[in-house]
Amino acid sequence: MTERRPPHHSGSAGRPELLVILGSSLTVIAILGIVTFLLIRERANAQQAAARGATTVAQLIDADVLRTVELYDLTLQGLIAAAQRDDLKQVSAQIRHLVLFDRSTTARYKGDILLLDKHGGVLADSSLIDPKPGNFADRDYFLAHAYNRDTGMFISQPYKPRCDCAYSDEWQISFSRRISSSTGEFLGVAVASMRLAYFDQLFSSLDIGTDNTLAIINDDGVLLAQKPYLEDNSIGKSFAGRPNVVRMLREGSGSFDGVSSVDNEQRLYTFSRVGNLPLTVIVALSSDQVFATWRRTAIVISGATGVLCIGLLWLTWLLCRELRLRQFAEQELAQLAATDALTGVANRRTLDQTLRHEWFRAQRSGKPMSVLMIDADHFKSFNDRHGHLGGDEALRSLAAVISANVHRPTDLVARYGGEEFSVILAETDNEGARQIAERIRAQVEQLPLVGDDDAPMTVSIGISTWTTASDNSLELLLFAADKALYQAKEGGRNRVVVA
Ligand code: GH3
Ligand code: MG
Ligand code: MG
Repeated sequence: MTERRPPHHSGSAGRPELLVILGSSLTVIAILGIVTFLLIRERANAQQAAARGATTVAQLIDADVLRTVELYDLTLQGLIAAAQRDDLKQVSAQIRHLVLFDRSTTARYKGDILLLDKHGGVLADSSLIDPKPGNFADRDYFLAHAYNRDTGMFISQPYKPRCDCAYSDEWQISFSRRISSSTGEFLGVAVASMRLAYFDQLFSSLDIGTDNTLAIINDDGVLLAQKPYLEDNSIGKSFAGRPNVVRMLREGSGSFDGVSSVDNEQRLYTFSRVGNLPLTVIVALSSDQVFATWRRTAIVISGATGVLCIGLLWLTWLLCRELRLRQFAEQELAQLAATDALTGVANRRTLDQTLRHEWFRAQRSGKPMSVLMIDADHFKSFNDRHGHLGGDEALRSLAAVISANVHRPTDLVARYGGEEFSVILAETDNEGARQIAERIRAQVEQLPLVGDDDAPMTVSIGISTWTTASDNSLELLLFAADKALYQAKEGGRNRVVVA
């Protein structure tokens, strides 16, 4: 059966659902944004705190190294001052030795202290009253002082001593100063060596935790000491080509996140130059440790946030489903409230609404509007013959025939009551309405008989049409249709009368 004019209002369908989805999506995005922001900030805080700790360690090392180097420098300066005293040439070798190396006893981890002449020959040796002959003219420090009077205190590359003296298999560096005449002429070099074990002792006195490393390098990127040693035989090796070392030598002091080129571990590097000496202390903290607490927190918070968001989205889904069901139920109810339960065509309520609506529309547009009143003939006796169920079935067939002949979306078929139906034909004149009515009448007559000996079912139809020439009253229009129907009944039934 064709259904006329779905009575539900589909305009607002889906809107509350969209709002709910939009609202919860925005909430989820906001939650994720806030949590991400907080986690990133917490990570930066963890990194900052670790870098602060590392800077403190680097500063402790700096201070100790500065003090030690200062002691060596004082030793050298004392040696040079003593060596330039003329009166010292007259005293015995023992006294001279005592005076020359008087200040050197305080220096820690010291090796030999030598006084060299301008050709690199040994003039005095802290460990022997009668120095062993030797020549150090090829050493880097000797050349540095011989060719540049402004070198100041020079720190050599690490080396192993070539004598068979004590500590001869231990790595050392030397501190040296130029001896100049009053006119600036090169007279020789005072040089003091220090065992690199000093740094190892200094590093081992600091507890930096496992997986973290301490190191000290010179300006050429050469490693002087490390704790723990990551590679074998790395003292004296140059790391100047490693990107991290290049960056540290360029920047002097600071902190950055980097990957170690030795073991490919992520590390937090904090580095600091020792005073204005050509030395850089490096504190490398394992990122795993630096961020261990943060990572645990991040996992817990991310998990909780994930569950929260999933819960929220699930609730949203439930709510949307409820809204959809409710909307569907409302549509269903509206449909039920608007249709006639027996025949499925519009009911009296919808008929009244649509009549008024179409009436005012016709008034505005000035286009004709027709109303059909259809009444089954002798239906009481039909009921008597076939029972109420048979009558109901006949009413359904009748509604189907009427609906099948009314096609426009603005037309409406309604059950007026009992065995009476109404049809509203918008923008339809007398003649058009008469044709439709005639078709309905003829088709009803053709409906199959219920019993072999039964008479066919027929209808009488009254038509009235409003045009701009008619009276301006809906009641009069309906009254005229009723009157035409009455005339059709009077005239013998099974016929169409136009008012
Ligand atoms: P007329 O040709 O003058 O219209 O005669 P009629 O018998 O159709 O007229 P009347 O209005 O006296 O009778 C209408 C009958 O229609 C009364 C009732 O038995 C029957 N009827 C009304 N509503 C229903 C319904 O919902 N189902 C069934 N089965 N019968 C109905
Ligand atoms: Mg009737
Ligand atoms: Mg009747």
